[in-house]
Formats: sequence, C-alpha cells, structure tokens
Amino acid sequence: MRILRARVLGAFLDPDACPHAHPGIAFTGRSNVGKSSLVNRFANQAIARTSKTPGRTRQLVYFELESDRTPPFYLIDLPGYGYAAGPEKERRTFARAARDLLADPDRRAALFQLVDVSVPWQDSDLEMLSWLLEDTVPFALAFTKCDRVNRSAPARKLSELRKLLPWREDVDVIATSSKDNEGIVALRKWAQGTLTAPQGETTIE
Ligand code: GDP
Repeated sequence: MRILRARVLGAFLDPDACPHAHPGIAFTGRSNVGKSSLVNRFANQAIARTSKTPGRTRQLVYFELESDRTPPFYLIDLPGYGYAAGPEKERRTFARAARDLLADPDRRAALFQLVDVSVPWQDSDLEMLSWLLEDTVPFALAFTKCDRVNRSAPARKLSELRKLLPWREDVDVIATSSKDNEGIVALRKWAQGTLTAPQGETTIE
C-alpha cells in the first residue's frame, strides 16, 4: 500500500468531537519511543511533530490518510495511553477518551503498540501489553529503533517477553527503524490487512 495523501485534522479529547467518518489505526507507546518519527515514516510525510507541544501529549491527534489500496482512514497518535502524565483530572479525561476510542470497533480498526527495542522492558509497556492480550483490539507489537541494536535483539526481546507475559503467538511483531526506514512497508501492509479484512478477521497473507 502506498500513502497518497496525509493531513492533520487536529487534536481531540472529547470522544464526541473526534472524527468518526473512517476507521483509525492508532499508534501508542511511551514517550520518546520514537512514535512521531515512525508516524512520519508511515505517512511518508513529516506530519507528526517530533518536538512536542505541551498538552498535545494528552490528546488524541488525528491524521487523515489516503492510500492506493484502502478507503481513507485515520492515523491516530494516541500519546501515552496508560502512560499519561500531568494533573490527575487531565489524566483521567485522557484515559477515558483513549478507552472510548479503543472500545469502539467503528472508530478504531487496529493499534500498533510501540516498544523501544534498545531499552529493558518497562512495567508500563508490560501493563499495556497485558491489557491488549486480553482485549479484542487487533494489535501488532512494533519494536522501534532497531538500528541501535544487533540483528538478534528483537527476537531476544520477544523471548524475554514470553517469560514475562502469556504472549499470544498470533500477534504479529514488526521490527522497525525510522532511521533506516526498516519495517515501514511491513507496518503499512499490516495496517492494510486490518483495514480491508472482513470484520473480526485480521490475518494477512
Ligand atoms: P516520540 O516521543 O515517541 O514521538 O519519539 P520521537 O519520534 O520524537 O523520537 C524520540 C527520540 O528518539 C529522538 O531523539 C529521535 O531522533 C530518536 N529516534 C526515533 N526513532 C529512531 C530510530 O528509529 N532510530 C534511532 N536511532 N533513534 C530514533
């Protein structure tokens, strides 16, 4: 799938105000995981800010993407679901907006959970993955910054994960590097699979 166009729609918090016309592919992960860099690579345009604006880190940032193989869809930058910082009230409001989004299959098609391959497993990543493993949100685990480690590191990190969590072997794992442009085609292909699969089926060939 090629991305033909990408544009920023804005940052939203109120679930009713979020765009509803298309399904969304959400990207989430801890701050500094390399999400903005990966979103830019995925969209083939520097649409995500790599320098952060305060406040935006607790909103759902929507981009509208057009591709040659799927109907238009949203790329949703979901900053720190489960990791939100800031005042308690804002964190609660954000957590609710994120939960509402993920609970609504019409609004979210799937999610990429980003994990930095070059740092040890963090509790917040494990918490989010535990939740995803038990939930119905189709997701793939994307390791970021793979250029920083040797070739065997993603497999090693995954085998550590299998000891930490009841990992599901049906979940796809994609090794990426925004620096080297690694895994970007695989991310797009996976997203295409979820956007075009019949409801309830996310497997791609
Ligand atoms: P975000 O906070 O998750 O949006 O992360 P950013 O995309 O802003 O990246 C955080 C830091 O990691 C920046 O210093 C980036 O240059 C660096 N970074 C992001 N992606 C990669 C990557 O693929 N390889 C390397 N080596 N560094 C990266």
